[in-house]
Amino acid sequence: MNSTIGFIGLGHMGGPMAQNLLKAGHTLQVFDLVPQAMQAAAQAGARAMASAAQAVDGVDVVITMLPASRHVEGLYLGDDGLLSAIAPGTLVLECSTIAPESARKVSAAAAARGIRMLDAPVSGGTGGAVAGTLTFIVGGAAADLEAARPCLQVMGKNIFHAGEAGAGQVAKICNNMLLGIQMAGTAEALALGVANGLDPKTLSDIIAKSSGRNWATELYNPWPGVMDHAPASHDYAGGFGVDLMLKDLGLAAEASMHVRATTPLGELARNLYALHSIQGHGKLDFSSIQKLYHQPHPKG
Ligand code: NAD
Repeated sequence: MNSTIGFIGLGHMGGPMAQNLLKAGHTLQVFDLVPQAMQAAAQAGARAMASAAQAVDGVDVVITMLPASRHVEGLYLGDDGLLSAIAPGTLVLECSTIAPESARKVSAAAAARGIRMLDAPVSGGTGGAVAGTLTFIVGGAAADLEAARPCLQVMGKNIFHAGEAGAGQVAKICNNMLLGIQMAGTAEALALGVANGLDPKTLSDIIAKSSGRNWATELYNPWPGVMDHAPASHDYAGGFGVDLMLKDLGLAAEASMHVRATTPLGELARNLYALHSIQGHGKLDFSSIQKLYHQPHPKG
């Protein structure tokens, strides 16, 4: 059954997710702060609305895909927050990666108004968003997840119920801490091999079929020219920003402090991405961490 969906946040991820919902025949009312993002969605058939409140007017489902906790809390909460514009009973899918406490706070405020909210962060990158093959990692009531499933299946291939409100965010943060560590480790290994005379493509092919293989070596190689489709081969444009990875590693550090867990590799990765961001690379794709491991100098 086709729904009317209010979609807010049409960036690298939200843009293609909205396009897939349109292609599946849903009616979309969209809003983003960036006019170009609105134009692209309108060209694909969405109704471009003048505000977030207008985008959620009369809809069956609301989806948000925003950068960080402060954007999500800023949008939904407060006297003029979006929750006051959403009709009770509406299903809200909050797909941004944010702090579990923020997700629980917004979810509780939604529940107090009779609004059904799920935290549904995603994995799979911009490629997965375009292809409609994202993994959704959901926290919230099982019945609400069943109601959301037809909509989620348009945008994703794997849908997991991690637990109650906030649990989707906890699982997502654990995944991204591992991703950040793996990408930095892959960049380090490639730089070491190339500095010792190996061809980066040959080394990547070897690792991809050996025990060091991982998501980066299979789908998202950080060395320029190894994979045509990867951001590394396009000046690290698009993809998943360094500052977003830095945010997620910060969320992992916070989550670890709450329970006195030890995450030394996560902390080291957070420091590497922070250094890389300070050097002016915050807006590049996170695989640009490769730049931190300098190109080899000729032997002298
Ligand atoms: P992005 O910065 O490209 O997009 C965010 C969009 O939200 C922007 O277009 C911005 O204008 C809009 N926005 C911010 N505040 C708004 C507001 N108040 N009202 C309307 N629009 C607003 O980010 P992205 O790469 O699309 O990532 C979005 C979320 O998904 C982040 O939490 C990120 O961590 C997560 N994520 C990203 C990837 C990836 O590969 N890019 C993968 C998985 C998860």
